Amino acid sequence: MQSFQNYEIILKAISCIRRDKISIKDFVDFLKLFTKNPEEISKIIEMAIRENIIKREGRDIIIISRSKSESKIIKERCNDYCRRCNRKIKNCFYISIYNITFGPYGSECVKKFLS
Ligand SMILES: [Zn+2]
Repeated sequence: MQSFQNYEIILKAISCIRRDKISIKDFVDFLKLFTKNPEEISKIIEMAIRENIIKREGRDIIIISRSKSESKIIKERCNDYCRRCNRKIKNCFYISIYNITFGPYGSECVKKFLS
């Protein structure tokens, strides 16, 4: 399991979310791609709000600011296991931020953020 302190990187990853509005639950699921530590997750949410990247609106998160193009999604055929749910996968999705790549993840774990 990967856990790390570089919250700035995860804040950049928020721009991978295609929707402008996402439920808090889905947003937390997104952050779980990077860390499963609940303390880190709430710290990242606090930072994102403080830096005006997101705001809370009831049970939703509104994405109000996107970093330009430091992050991208890469899709590849593969034969691997999802880093989030451990399911066997043949379509791998990677989240690349600067030169740091997270994944692979299966489509079930990322598709709700990409459409
Ligand atoms: Zn998965």
